[in-house]
Amino acid sequence: MEKYFCWRQGRSVWRLAGMLILVMIALSCSQEPEFPARIETWDSDYPAYADEQKLLDETFRIDISDIDVVLTYHPQDAAVDGRARVRFRMRPGQLRPRIHFDPACRGNVISGWQLDGKSWIVPSAAFRIVDVAGTTQKALEFVDEVDARTEHELIVTYRLALGGGYPRFTTNVHDIKGSGNEELFPTLNTPHELAHHRITLRVGGADPYRCLGSGRVERTVNASFQEWILDSERDVASYTMMFVLLPEADTLLREGAISGIPVRIAAFNGGAAIDGAWTELEAWLPQLVADIGPFPMPRGLSVFLTSGGGGMEYFGGTISSPWALSHEIFHMYFACSTVARTYRDSWLDEAITSWYDRSYPDYLIPIEPGYRSNMVSGRSPVAVGFDSRAYYQGTQIIETMAQHLGGRTAMVAFLSDVYRRHAFSPFSSMDLAEYFRQYSGIDLRQDFQDWLFNKAAALETTIPINNQFASLPDLTPPDEILRKYGLEPPRQGIDRGGE
Ligand SMILES: [Zn+2]
Repeated sequence: MEKYFCWRQGRSVWRLAGMLILVMIALSCSQEPEFPARIETWDSDYPAYADEQKLLDETFRIDISDIDVVLTYHPQDAAVDGRARVRFRMRPGQLRPRIHFDPACRGNVISGWQLDGKSWIVPSAAFRIVDVAGTTQKALEFVDEVDARTEHELIVTYRLALGGGYPRFTTNVHDIKGSGNEELFPTLNTPHELAHHRITLRVGGADPYRCLGSGRVERTVNASFQEWILDSERDVASYTMMFVLLPEADTLLREGAISGIPVRIAAFNGGAAIDGAWTELEAWLPQLVADIGPFPMPRGLSVFLTSGGGGMEYFGGTISSPWALSHEIFHMYFACSTVARTYRDSWLDEAITSWYDRSYPDYLIPIEPGYRSNMVSGRSPVAVGFDSRAYYQGTQIIETMAQHLGGRTAMVAFLSDVYRRHAFSPFSSMDLAEYFRQYSGIDLRQDFQDWLFNKAAALETTIPINNQFASLPDLTPPDEILRKYGLEPPRQGIDRGGE
């Protein structure tokens, strides 16, 4: 998830918000489910669920095996025609499917809906848009119930309007906010839902495009379009699938291998310095392989290097500024292969990464004695996004674990063990405490409950940092490229992201 800029806020705001939360807690009447491993985290909205798994199943309904999507980009229209085929089974006890596809929640973009061979004449009659308690995200709930015993196939055709401006088509995942690729195709937007992804990217028009992306990327022959097929080649979280489509003439590419890992770095012509990033990776990649384990993605690493902003990590790829690059690359291990069970658990990806790469040196000290927070319990297990205290107090929690083990080297060995045992097997915050106990004999489960699941701690310094401080990579091309397209360069400080 993105690397984060430091941020502070006034104490009076904390106090005011703390009082507000105090009043809210006083007014709420929560019935605490008893489930020791998954502590009792979410507030009174879910008194009937004693088990997080049941809540996840009730909310997400389906288990996707394959997502096969064709996205045809028409630069001249700033639009994308999509055709997605999703294969799924129902989760235990579920009959009525749901899926995430945000454009269809905002407008009438679906032109075709076919479920198990049955086409709907009026596609919008096939589903209704539902709000789900505990999350700000809406879902499409199918009108039809389906057989719980068999696999199902949904085929959706649709058209997406892009923003216009510079002709690029890229993924734009924002995990702090919790928006993923449900902006581009129907999927489930939750980290633990792993599926095989195959994305065919087509570009209309004569201008040659360059394509980078997750997994195996193959240029294929198509008489009508420039075409590439991205294949994750394994089950991955949907929000970790990356692609970048940009005019080839505006970009530079360096390809090669670093310690046997295939590496591709592209950037705008006149933009970020590819060679500097390459040199950085020549040191960083071997260090990660030695410390944590073999590089997780067999097809290596694809980087689109931006001049400004932060970065976002994906499966085998990142869109990142040089500033955030090493951070995003570490995420190949924690976030893109070792995956959190729910969004709220993904604080641990950021905490581990920021601890390892020393993003925030001020926070490389143990967490203060008696620290309490609702970093995890402040959100429902089905909520999107995570608490950005992950970067700061999260780093301190990891440092505390390191000191329990005897220092940095010992902690890195533990992280390597977690990666090797649990990659692509999503786990929760409390699971990490259990892995730590199994590995070291040191039981931090009660500490984890205090640090992460303490509702009363909402009274303290526990307001999530505003999303506007999240730093996404800035994909704005250099001014001379914009002018070539007759576009006005953005004004500094207003249109540019992050820093
Ligand atoms: Zn991050």
